[in-house]
Amino acid sequence: MPELPEVETTKTSLKPLLGQQVNAVQVFQPKLRWQMPSDLEDLVGYTLHSVERRAKYLIITFTQAINEQAQQQLPARQLIMHLGMSGSLQQHPFGTDKRKHDHLIITFSAADCVNSTATQLHYHDPRRFGAVLWYEDYSSKLLDHLGPEPLSPDFTADYLYHLIQRTVKADDASDKTSKKRPIARPIKSVIMEQKVVVGVGNIYATESLYLAGIHPATPAHQLSYDQISVLVKHIKDILQKAIVLGGSTLRDFTIASGQTGYFQQTLNVYGKQGEKCPHCDMPLDNIKLNGRASVYCPNCQPLP
Ligand SMILES: [Zn+2]
Repeated sequence: MPELPEVETTKTSLKPLLGQQVNAVQVFQPKLRWQMPSDLEDLVGYTLHSVERRAKYLIITFTQAINEQAQQQLPARQLIMHLGMSGSLQQHPFGTDKRKHDHLIITFSAADCVNSTATQLHYHDPRRFGAVLWYEDYSSKLLDHLGPEPLSPDFTADYLYHLIQRTVKADDASDKTSKKRPIARPIKSVIMEQKVVVGVGNIYATESLYLAGIHPATPAHQLSYDQISVLVKHIKDILQKAIVLGGSTLRDFTIASGQTGYFQQTLNVYGKQGEKCPHCDMPLDNIKLNGRASVYCPNCQPLP
């Protein structure tokens, strides 16, 4: 499944298209997780202005040149894209045939670049759990309740510890969370909740808990401030490392330029149940938490 690093890599790969104008929009299969809008062709004539990432969503902004007759800039149009379980955005030269599972092709012109050919952006998604939506229709539903970005300064040990303990600062005393009990759910489930922190998928939760020496089923509120601190550090490190390497959690995941990421080659425990712990040689065990495989070392990650 494309995780946060893959989406960040996809964002970066779209940079060469910034400033290019949309020449054509072709929808072949609108039925993704939600129905694709029927008026995507409205983007023809717009220019790709910016690509942002929030959690695993890409927010793609198109603007239009000043309309000379109206003497004003038309409003920007924004798309939200999600790659779902198996989606990818791939760039091909103009004239490349549509492949099976290419559900949307946006053709850009490179009129201002005499020597380059036009590029087609193919949204490819065999399992069709992804999404292509107008931002204005879905932003509040999809984006408003998300927690902080894991690599941002907002995601700190202080933040996570106090969120789990439900302790609040004095100036927040009216906050209702102060009346709630500390969070006793397994720590792995907590760090995978999007309202706690975004983009920590199964692979990164599993690996960071291993590196922090924390059993995935540990009740979150039993962790000390120091343990939370080490865990937060490893979550940030591992995501940063995966972004640098291009990310790869899906075996056939290819970034837009056609290269395959290779982060999975550096994993310690994810997907390695029964193999030896790289640190102590004990066979790695697996428990299911929220229906998800959670591989861990019984020796290096003891339950408290
Ligand atoms: Zn071990």
